[in-house]
Amino acid sequence: MNNFNIDPGLGDDVDQTAEMARPDQSVSRPSEPSTNSLPAPSGPATSAILQRQLDGLMAVFGAVSTALLVVDDHGIVVMANPEAARLFGPMHTLLHVSLANLLLTGATAADAVPLLDDDALSMVMQQKRWKADNVRIHPVGRPDFPADFTLIPYDTEGRRNAVVVITDNTDREPARAQLEWQATHDPLTGLSNRAILLDRLEHALLLAARSGLWPTLIFLDLDRFKSVNDQLGHSTGDRLLVEAAERIKRSVRAADTVARIGGDEFVVLCEALERTDIAHQVAARILLAMEEPYDFNGEGVHISASIGIMQGDASMSAAEDLLRNADLAMYRAKENGRNRIETFDTVMHGEIRRRIDMERALREALDNDELSVVYQPIFTTAHGALVAFEALVRWEHPTFGKVSPLEFIPLAEETGLIAALGERVLDIACRDAASWRDAAAYTIGLHVNVSGRQVSASNFVSYLSRVLRHHHIDPSSLTLELQESVLLDNPERAVARLVALRELGLRIAIDDFGVGYSSLAYLRRFPLDVLKVDRQFVAGIAQSPQGQQVLQAIVDLAAGLDYSVIAEGVETTEELTSLCNLGFEYAQGYLLAAPMSPAEALLLAAASIVPESAEHADAVQR
Ligand code: C2E
Ligand code: MG
Ligand code: MG
Repeated sequence: MNNFNIDPGLGDDVDQTAEMARPDQSVSRPSEPSTNSLPAPSGPATSAILQRQLDGLMAVFGAVSTALLVVDDHGIVVMANPEAARLFGPMHTLLHVSLANLLLTGATAADAVPLLDDDALSMVMQQKRWKADNVRIHPVGRPDFPADFTLIPYDTEGRRNAVVVITDNTDREPARAQLEWQATHDPLTGLSNRAILLDRLEHALLLAARSGLWPTLIFLDLDRFKSVNDQLGHSTGDRLLVEAAERIKRSVRAADTVARIGGDEFVVLCEALERTDIAHQVAARILLAMEEPYDFNGEGVHISASIGIMQGDASMSAAEDLLRNADLAMYRAKENGRNRIETFDTVMHGEIRRRIDMERALREALDNDELSVVYQPIFTTAHGALVAFEALVRWEHPTFGKVSPLEFIPLAEETGLIAALGERVLDIACRDAASWRDAAAYTIGLHVNVSGRQVSASNFVSYLSRVLRHHHIDPSSLTLELQESVLLDNPERAVARLVALRELGLRIAIDDFGVGYSSLAYLRRFPLDVLKVDRQFVAGIAQSPQGQQVLQAIVDLAAGLDYSVIAEGVETTEELTSLCNLGFEYAQGYLLAAPMSPAEALLLAAASIVPESAEHADAVQR
């Protein structure tokens, strides 16, 4: 039996079990679709076969749990199945109705508009297939629901019809919403994530190109968050991040996007700010909110933040660029002392461009072995006897020219190139020292500067002993020059590392002594051999009784701790005389000798073979 009943009078959707309806009996049953058609039966049994196929199709049409609507070329519903009636209303209210009036979509019922108005529908009907996913539909007088749509046009009797397939997603909604949320949010703080931030920023940039109101990014990084994590544990760290997120949200407007894009990195996107100074005010408000101590089990924890502001403008069209610039401005805030706000400017841009180019060039220089090493002698103050050479790295680039190590060493540290650079310098310096020793027939001391990151690398001690063995260098002739910051950043680890280095038999000098937090009492904790007093203490020492007192105190305390003392940057004979009188045994500086090539160093070493200098060499290497 054909269960396809034509019942224009169906009044109640509950009662429509397997039935479909057409507006009236005169509407022909769907004829074979021109595409996707069943094989056309032929011969005497044609009409019976056709009937069977049609009955089968209609049975399916009535039974599927997907809503199906057939519309004619004017977008008028000519057939609907029971599932469609369940979703949209009694069958008689569906038929003859324009699809545009049936499929109303919007965030709420009040602002619902046709999913496809008549114009859109006629365009869509020209295509093969049209799809819309997860659209919220508001049927008149019925509960709204999320649905996927597919519209499949087909031709029948020379006219274009379409089947609209509607899948009700109500059951899948919670899971889908959950997935969508996870893809766009930070699970810890509930803030937007990087992806959604960039998405909104791109959108804001597109709008700004028309409106002229450019978006601003406020990039915030908590200061010394790592130590909170290390000292108070990760769960306290997490709680702090959640609280910080709340404080940021409270400091900005509801329309602003607040995102967490990394461990302790937050970004606020302010779209279309009328005035540029407003961003600064918002950032200042955030800093203020951060000042309040965090309460963890009655313990107050203070943590400040550094903020970078990037104001978009017509020259900036890539969201990633804007974000990177905001990050750089934040970085500058850290450099300038933390707990402050810096705004990205074009000067910064120039500097950053140079850094990026220089990083690439430095990488190439390392690959192509373009770094060289020069040597500055260290002499006794009393007799001017040569005791050691300090290795100083040099880099000359075709475009940048001679780049100072004061510029490229920090760059190498930031980019991780320092490990390769340090190994290179050590290798060259040990090779040169071996050649002087062989030529001059005595051992001259070698000082090599090493950076904090280099020393803390786990393989540093083993690399060092390998290089020394390779070049047959007596470890006791090598002094490593370290800066104080290396010790102070992580004192326990530094002590362990220094002990391991000294066990190799070499010596440790503190370079640029006096410019950091130096306290001799503090330094007593570290196994050290030499203090190299920074040249700012040496400059003008002859005319400064106060400066002389400071140097005298350093010399006396160093003697108490059994450290040797070297004065660096000696430029005048007056300075040298004063240093000599103060009890400095060793000196280095342009007055005595500027850094020189390895060949010049060899000549100097060869010319310095006098018993006295050999004695002093022993003394300073003691
Ligand atoms: P530093 O170790 O304190 O080296 C002394 C710096 O002072 C050298 O600058 C040297 O050329 C300069 N100098 C020497 N005598 C005088 C003087 O009488 N007056 C003045 N005004 N300056 C003098 P340079 O070679 O530019 O090195 C700068 C810094 O770069 C070094 O300071 C050191 O911290 C770092 N550095 C150099 N080579 C290396 C290296 O191979 N590895 C590492 N990690 N750092 C290095
Ligand atoms: Mg040095
Ligand atoms: Mg120095």
